[in-house]
Amino acid sequence: MPDKTSKAAKPKAGRVARPAVWKKLGLASEEDLVFHFPRRYEDRARWLNPFLAVDGEMVTVRGTIVTAKLARWRGGRNCFDLILQPLDQFETLQLVWYNMPFLKTYLTPGRELIVHGRIVVTGKKRKLAHPEFELVDEDEEGGNIHLNRITPVYPATSGVNQRMIRAAVYGLLQRPGWTVADVPPVPEGFVSLAQALQGIHFPADAAELEACRARLAFDELFAMQVLLAHRRSQAKSHHKERLRTQLELCAPFVGSLPFQPTAAQRRVFAEIDRDLAGVKPMNRMLQGDVGSGKTLVAAYALLKTLEQGKNGAILAPTETLAEQHYRNLSRLLEPLEISVRLFTRTRKTGDASLFGKSGVVYVGTHALFQEKVELPNLGLGVIDEQHKFGVLQRQAFLAKGDHPDLLVMTATPIPRTLCLTLYGDLDVSILDELPPGRQPIKTVLRSVAELPRVWEFVKKEMAAGRQAYVVYPVLEENEKSDLKSVQAAYKELQQVFGVAEVVMLHGKMDAEEKSARMREFREGRSHVMVATSVIEVGVDVPSATLMVIEHAERFGLAQLHQLRGRVGRGAARSYCVLVGEPKSPESWQRLKIMEETQDGFVLAEEDLKIRGPGNILGTEQSGLPPLRVANLARDMKILARAREFAGELILQDPQLQRHPELKKRLEVYWPAADPKAAN
Ligand code: ADP
Ligand code: MG
Repeated sequence: MPDKTSKAAKPKAGRVARPAVWKKLGLASEEDLVFHFPRRYEDRARWLNPFLAVDGEMVTVRGTIVTAKLARWRGGRNCFDLILQPLDQFETLQLVWYNMPFLKTYLTPGRELIVHGRIVVTGKKRKLAHPEFELVDEDEEGGNIHLNRITPVYPATSGVNQRMIRAAVYGLLQRPGWTVADVPPVPEGFVSLAQALQGIHFPADAAELEACRARLAFDELFAMQVLLAHRRSQAKSHHKERLRTQLELCAPFVGSLPFQPTAAQRRVFAEIDRDLAGVKPMNRMLQGDVGSGKTLVAAYALLKTLEQGKNGAILAPTETLAEQHYRNLSRLLEPLEISVRLFTRTRKTGDASLFGKSGVVYVGTHALFQEKVELPNLGLGVIDEQHKFGVLQRQAFLAKGDHPDLLVMTATPIPRTLCLTLYGDLDVSILDELPPGRQPIKTVLRSVAELPRVWEFVKKEMAAGRQAYVVYPVLEENEKSDLKSVQAAYKELQQVFGVAEVVMLHGKMDAEEKSARMREFREGRSHVMVATSVIEVGVDVPSATLMVIEHAERFGLAQLHQLRGRVGRGAARSYCVLVGEPKSPESWQRLKIMEETQDGFVLAEEDLKIRGPGNILGTEQSGLPPLRVANLARDMKILARAREFAGELILQDPQLQRHPELKKRLEVYWPAADPKAAN
């Protein structure tokens, strides 16, 4: 029922008022209707001939129902079968819906219908299964908004149909005096917000639609960038007192390394030196391709922190990786009288009495930032493989100290655009150089039929003392797919290579078992590791020179690149064999790129184009508002302008005191001023 106190909604006498559409859509107010954006559009000004469409194409067809019949099958299943006579066409089209018997009450012969769906061509027959549909009702008010134009199609909810939403949105937009203000002013070249909202719903043509979409994309990206600029200025607003102790750790450490740091590593050392000498907390992201030596940079930053009389911590996404860091850092740091402690769900080492003379480095997984865990005197938090963590986790970790410095590391190269978008609050360092002597990894594509030869090759390498990973996309056999599983492959490969030669590793094992299996492999007691993509992050075994990936088409390029990065870490020539049966030319083409390049950034850009940003980075973890209109792969220029504008705004009004509207919109995402107050 309409609200009686509302002046706007006076039901006409004699007409039963329906509950307002905006309420049914779950919107907070009627004004929000204009932000309920279409999910797609149909060009209902021109009807294309559905008989020219190829199999699998999406088509929109207007026509009249010729016959409709409901067939009931045994077991309660049924099929609603309809013959449509498309407008201006001679032939007819078949439509089917399964188990939707109620359709027969609406879809009766003689009625006019618009349907949208994927066409299936079998021989001479053309069929649409489960198309979306809309009944044409010429005498309904506002008939001009449903037909003869580019027509919006909305995310629907039960109880409201497309026509009701369209009419409600149109009604609001046409209401005398309806407008929305631009908050804050936008750069030149964009249409006003009021215009954009008109056009996103009812565009005159494709060009207008794009102009309106661009404006709304700007708004989304701008909001996101304002948040990031704010976070950045917050992080930088704290004045940090830094101590200078007598400890000399960095210089002796670098001097004691069995190799020379690369030029890129030295450059990042210098960037860290500058940050850690400053009066602001460090807030830095280190990007470096797999194998570029990020751990060394982390160790350097930790030592710098200990030189300032503080302790450091490094956070890893898996227990396997935490243990590896623990082992490596213990070896590197204990000679400097630093106590290195491991902290995971299942393992804790060292106790309070073991305080190293020069300080403590904590290594751990998520277990590290649980409430009861204390990290006394925390000066630096390093987050490895940061894309596996969310912003909130990052904040919880940092809340363990008093404005500690932050170094986040990532081996998934992030395309520049995306980096600015999601991590615009961080300074960026890049390790764009691999340690010398690394041989390029030869990558080849092989079909399933060639597997026996692949195993022969693995045997030859094993005979020379080298080791192999063999990776599968799933752990267990599954009725729904014909993917080979890790468990099945484990048995199979034990036949091929001998039972003792093969170990298995997967995410469902408990930590103890995982580390036992890792140890067995690292120590060369077995030579083949069969695994899921759990070995994707960080595992470092120099004598492993072969990476075989079955069902390679199932993995994203960035992920394949990560997996490939597990080999090529020692002096011997390394190989990556991608075994797959790509189902389409595109999918084959995508894998071909792996053969051609080892540049993680190139692969990441490709992935972004193909799969979209959400799939690559888990945007939902970023703690930023979702993008509904903006498309990161496409809207780079808009993003750059949004960033520029946002930086300017926050510089002048860091708390958005003069922009309450904008602040209100960002409320949910606005971080608490003090990370400690966030809990
Ligand atoms: P990632 O960047 O993937 O984390 P790691 O830090 O695991 O890489 O380093 C990969 C390997 O390279 C390690 O075995 C490490 O000891 C070695 N390494 C790192 N820096 C250098 C260097 N400057 N020269 C030679 N080897 C190096
Ligand atoms: Mg690493």
